[in-house]
Amino acid sequence: MNQDSRHIVIAGAGHAGGSAAAMLRQLGWRGAITLIGEEPIPPYQRPPLSKGWLTGEATAADLALRPAKFYSDSTIELRLATRVTGIDREAKTVALSDGGTVAYDTLILALGARARRLPLPGVDLNGVLELRSVADSDRLKATLRPGARLAVIGGGYIGLEAAASGRGLGAEVTIIERESRVLARVACPILSDFFQAFHRGKGVAIEVNADVSALEGAGGRITGVRLGDGRVMPCDAALVGVGAVANDELAREAGLTCQNGISVDLAARTADPAIFAIGDCTSRPLPLYERMGRLESVPNALEQAKQAAATICGKPAPTPEVPWFWSDQYDLRLQIAGIPFDTSEIVVRGDLDAAKFALFHLTADGTVQAVEAVNAAPEFMGGRRIIARRKRLTRVQIEDMSISVQQLAA
Ligand code: FAD
Repeated sequence: MNQDSRHIVIAGAGHAGGSAAAMLRQLGWRGAITLIGEEPIPPYQRPPLSKGWLTGEATAADLALRPAKFYSDSTIELRLATRVTGIDREAKTVALSDGGTVAYDTLILALGARARRLPLPGVDLNGVLELRSVADSDRLKATLRPGARLAVIGGGYIGLEAAASGRGLGAEVTIIERESRVLARVACPILSDFFQAFHRGKGVAIEVNADVSALEGAGGRITGVRLGDGRVMPCDAALVGVGAVANDELAREAGLTCQNGISVDLAARTADPAIFAIGDCTSRPLPLYERMGRLESVPNALEQAKQAAATICGKPAPTPEVPWFWSDQYDLRLQIAGIPFDTSEIVVRGDLDAAKFALFHLTADGTVQAVEAVNAAPEFMGGRRIIARRKRLTRVQIEDMSISVQQLAA
């Protein structure tokens, strides 16, 4: 079929979906593109929702992935406030929440992830919040006044960033973490200790090894978080930040393989040649580490959007990237390159006390699997190159600040 008469439908108008639409046009796709999203606004960036948008420093224009006009100028049909409710793979159509159906030649699933809910008494009380959308961020922002008490359930990145923003606005913040340290699922103990101490130094109370047993309220509004040991942490609002779940149900119902996300290959293809999947909703190959994984990051959304757009346009698949991620808290910029699978040693380069350091994660044979860099951009950039080249380094080389990271990466 001629490209001009082929129709690409993108389900999910977030970072990945919006980027895929733009990349298809950049690569010269001439056929129709329809981008369908359940949120009422054009694609936007989520990272500021726990940072600059929450503190009021970022504007709506900063948040938008592209100006609204871009979509009409690029003849990308944007159908907002519309949910995709089903996929008929045989008929090659998607069903919509407004009762309509749309036919596709190629379908890209860019459905993202949703905040995990806590199965606890009191979760429906007013003031129990999650943080995934701009609407969520606005609700949280409305509670963050000087002296207001915010309980953050879950010491992951989103919880820590919201805590930092909350402190910036003068709120009293308590982080409640079930594990023995914050960032337990995503960072090594050295980094957890560093962030824990930094937050405490900024006046954040942190309760670790603390199970939440209920959210308590009065008059339908939250008043406190009850812990497993019986203590109650009084609060005016509680942010539940206990991870995200892939939106892969539509794909499952359509018979596509899903394992903590929609399974795709390095071209973002599912097992159905007419269906691609990208971003937070996927389980994807991590070729450097020879395994599959689900990544929740902007760089991953962009990489997979590129993979899908290139494949659909008949261009060579882009070279796989080293996964990376960032988090901003106070004046700290954390940048992480790679994933510390199968590591046996962590080497500190730089100065933890000066909040300027990088942690190199090595396997038993010295291969660098990941670098976590705090206010150390050169180590992060060099780390990405070192990881991509599967370089082996020794503790002595890494610790020696007279050897530049460029030399280490060479
Ligand atoms: P999303 O951007 O979530 O987009 C998915 C879209 O699909 C959503 O609009 C959703 O409403 C829509 N949708 C879902 N189901 C349907 C349906 N059935 N029909 C129609 N539409 C549907 N990453 C970083 O790298 N660095 C950061 O600092 C960082 N900070 C973050 C802070 C916050 C508060 C959050 C929430 C995320 C952050 N992330 C960060 C993660 C990053 O934003 C995500 O990885 C990225 O948005 C993934 O893009 P996506 O398009 O896959 O998903």
